[in-house]
Amino acid sequence: MDPISILVNVAYIVSAILFIYGIRMLGRAETARQGNLVSAVGMFLAVIMTLINENLAGNFGLIFLGILIGGGIGYFAAQRVEMTGMPELVALFNGFGGLASLAVGWAEYQRLFETDATSIFTSIVIFLTVLIGGVTFTGSILAWGKLSGRFGGNSTLPNSQFINVALIGVLLLCGIMLVLFGATNAGYSMFMAVVVLSLVFGVTGVMPIGGGDMPVVVSLLNSLSGLAASAAGFVIGNNVLIVAGCLVGASGLILTVIMCRAMNRSLGSVLMGGFGATSSGGSGVEGEMKAASVEDAYYVLEAADSVIFVPGYGMAVAQAQHVVRELGEILEANGTEVKYVVHPVAGRMPGHMNVLLAEADVPYEQLVEMEDVNPTMETVDVAIVIGANDVVNPAALTDEGSPIYGMPIIKVHEARTVYALKRGRGKGFSGIVNALFFGDNTRMLFGDAKGTMSELIAQFKD
Ligand code: NDP
Repeated sequence: MDPISILVNVAYIVSAILFIYGIRMLGRAETARQGNLVSAVGMFLAVIMTLINENLAGNFGLIFLGILIGGGIGYFAAQRVEMTGMPELVALFNGFGGLASLAVGWAEYQRLFETDATSIFTSIVIFLTVLIGGVTFTGSILAWGKLSGRFGGNSTLPNSQFINVALIGVLLLCGIMLVLFGATNAGYSMFMAVVVLSLVFGVTGVMPIGGGDMPVVVSLLNSLSGLAASAAGFVIGNNVLIVAGCLVGASGLILTVIMCRAMNRSLGSVLMGGFGATSSGGSGVEGEMKAASVEDAYYVLEAADSVIFVPGYGMAVAQAQHVVRELGEILEANGTEVKYVVHPVAGRMPGHMNVLLAEADVPYEQLVEMEDVNPTMETVDVAIVIGANDVVNPAALTDEGSPIYGMPIIKVHEARTVYALKRGRGKGFSGIVNALFFGDNTRMLFGDAKGTMSELIAQFKD
């Protein structure tokens, strides 16, 4: 091995270590920002080394133009995106990752076709790169469209299971023939069929899945974009691409499994569609919601010894995190013990609430785990539910017919008093009625969460 190759491969190992270390740091809110930076440094090193190694001097102008355009678009998109729009942005990024892998596979097949130099191994990895890259591209674009409401969130496809199984069969057949025919005209036709069918499969695979299940699908597509990149790494013989792709693939899959578990669902049931596309359930709930005034809530909070805040998707919509923290500080100064409990799937993406609370500088030590709070819930004076719904729905514990039955919840209904902040009688993500809001110990504070919180703060300041 020449000295340059040795240097490059050592640098690739350093990059891989930086990626792994960075991902590890992402696991804790305190170190997450630095973790992002550490991984970005690893990627920067990998890009520089690849440019040196691949002898691309003649193409530097074009490469830098691409980096400038792509980096510029990415920078402005990330700057402008609202926290509630983050899953859409991630979906787009995954999609373009898949398209990039497809392009690498296509370019390499074209080169090998022209030089008549394919082997069984290269044909297999090219097939996998194009297949996974293509599915990830169109699947992610459709997921983005469903999440952002541009395409019908709950649009379905008649006979989707039959169509998808048939497509998988035809794709595998084309793949086998591509490997057998290699760099011949027949092989080229098979290659083009794989490109087209994988793009179609991305659409038909994601189409039947309910709009509400898209975050799980986005996480799965994220994993696929990693696998596509890894396969592309085999195609062009780039070690760091293989490692980085595997890391994305594995972490995306772990995240998908965590999300499914926290919703008490199997990945199969998500992919088949259903939850998030239905609006049934909770029909047995009786009684009335009891509205309270901000003034009433103030008197109860003023006298409370312990208060827990339970944020949900509505807090993200209202962007109420800063006023929530402010009220928390006021209560603490008043001698109340204040805690924040975040459910693993509160919001619309993993860690959604943690990011918002961290942005508002809520002290990490006040964040407590659901499992730790639930056993002592009866001793909590006031639970303030800020735009959370499904994650505090007792039907998950009691109603076997409920689509969320079995999902772990934060048992706020066992607290002495519950204040629930929401705009109206809207249902949660799963589309079912929440008995919590009808409970004897629950009072509704109707209105936008940020406005209600601000009014409460004003009461304390008066
Ligand atoms: P939900 O989506 O169940 O409920 C949101 C609540 O917020 C609604 O009751 C809504 O009521 C209220 N709301 C909306 N806007 C405002 C506002 N401006 N001010 C006050 N309230 C508002 O939220 P949860 O966080 O409890 O549950 C998350 C759900 O998402 C779970 O079912 C989970 O499985 C699912 N999910 C989560 C994923 C994740 O990774 N986190 C991924 C996929 C799915 P109203 O309209 O009346 O105001």
